[in-house]
Amino acid sequence: MATLVSDPLVSRRTADFVSQDHRIYIDGRFVAAASGKTFPVYNPATGDVITHVPEAEEEDVNRAVLAARRAFDDGPWTRMSPSGRGRLLWKLGDLLEQHLEEFAEIESLDNGKPFSVARVADVPLAVDMFRYMAGWATKISGKTLPLSSGYDFHSYTLREPIGVVAQIIPWNFPLLMAAWKLAPALACGCTVILKLAEQTPLSGLRLAQLIDEAGFPPGVVNILTGYGEGVGAPLAAHNLVDKVAFTGSTEVGKLIIRAAAGNLKKVSLELGGKSPVLVFPDANIDEAISGTSSAIFFNHGQCCCAGSRLYVHEKVFDRVVEGVSHVASDIRLAPGLDPSCQMGPLVSEEQYQKVVSYIESGIAEGANIAAGGPVSGVERGYFVRPTVLTNTNPRMKVVQEEIFGPVVCAVPFTDEDLERIIKRANDTVYGLAASVWTQNVSLAHKVARGLRAGTVWVNCHNVFDASLPFGGYKQSGWGREMGEEVLHNYTELKAVTVAL
Ligand code: ADP
Repeated sequence: MATLVSDPLVSRRTADFVSQDHRIYIDGRFVAAASGKTFPVYNPATGDVITHVPEAEEEDVNRAVLAARRAFDDGPWTRMSPSGRGRLLWKLGDLLEQHLEEFAEIESLDNGKPFSVARVADVPLAVDMFRYMAGWATKISGKTLPLSSGYDFHSYTLREPIGVVAQIIPWNFPLLMAAWKLAPALACGCTVILKLAEQTPLSGLRLAQLIDEAGFPPGVVNILTGYGEGVGAPLAAHNLVDKVAFTGSTEVGKLIIRAAAGNLKKVSLELGGKSPVLVFPDANIDEAISGTSSAIFFNHGQCCCAGSRLYVHEKVFDRVVEGVSHVASDIRLAPGLDPSCQMGPLVSEEQYQKVVSYIESGIAEGANIAAGGPVSGVERGYFVRPTVLTNTNPRMKVVQEEIFGPVVCAVPFTDEDLERIIKRANDTVYGLAASVWTQNVSLAHKVARGLRAGTVWVNCHNVFDASLPFGGYKQSGWGREMGEEVLHNYTELKAVTVAL
């Protein structure tokens, strides 16, 4: 195991945290996995093992679910006032903000992303999510409904917490995904078992310490580390869990649906994408070049909404592709904690192999490389050069499948009718996000209407806010994260009718 204390890029504080004896969080206590097993955590910039964390399994899942069940059925959580819940969420946001630099460092070390990005994006957005949802805790309400029959009844609806919620998250934004999941469920009055991604458990384990410090009652939040098979699958199948909320691959999303069928627990899913980016000739081309580059290269393309299909009008195709290729070639690869880092390593060896093999399959199928390619030139770590492919066609794997890496396929379009361009943009099984680049307001709105995607950005991409609903059409998911809309994921609706 590599000792982080001697790594000049890692602060003493983070080295101490990472090397500690890690524990899962069940019923307000930090405990080892029942089996005593652990599994390794890697630094993706070097491939070294930096620590071990508990490998929870079914017995731990049962303990966590029972704790969450008690906290929901008999515990103080359901009896606590909405404003009390809101105050705790706000306090957690404050605590997180006080430790902003520390979380950014942990995230960068564990996931590989640049520290500078984690510091301005991942951690502040997570803080904001807790605060935004703290506000909703006191505003979850039903409606009074006039009966269409006009009979003499008084009817209204109540929005009530759905109960015990299992939440399963991926590794691309470890802390932020935890915040997206925990904050709304807790605001609604649910209790939670959160399963962290096995590749990136560290920020979630540190967050468990802050949750404990904030004073959430025991059992309200339980946090487990472990593998998909060992923890995710039994959680999704558990009879005492009322709801499972999952973010990850479409493939595992389908397994979750099957596992949930046993007790028909409610399911929400935020899954994959293959987001189109459409650049029209009247766009501000310099802005489009930098915006569409960051649409794909932000977070190393490890975003479900990464703009991985770049459709550019033929009049500006060469200029845009040349511009994006320049941006790609200029990006400096380095460990996330290196101050010169503009792009870190991919999260794991598995992802590295997968992304490189996609690039190779694109080349084998006839694509040209305008920038990047399968060889990174960096000796250690899971680095992949930002890559621009041209001469692709809609049947290629690189155009159809989610690569989840810094690889974009650029495709020209002509003055064909708008319907056809939109049809091409919609031609995947996914429907998560898209962006449109034009100065023509009417065109922008027309395209936004035509795209079958849960988010459409105009002259921007990857803009997130706690207030904006996010989720997918088609095989990109069920339900929405964030905004008022996410409250529907964690509440049941009850209609009450009183004879007058
Ligand atoms: P990725 O390909 O991005 O790693 P996955 O969908 O494989 O995404 O994983 C996302 C999350 O789902 C992780 O926390 C992982 O452990 C979990 N997971 C994987 N397989 C299963 C499964 N069969 N049931 C439940 N959760 C799973």
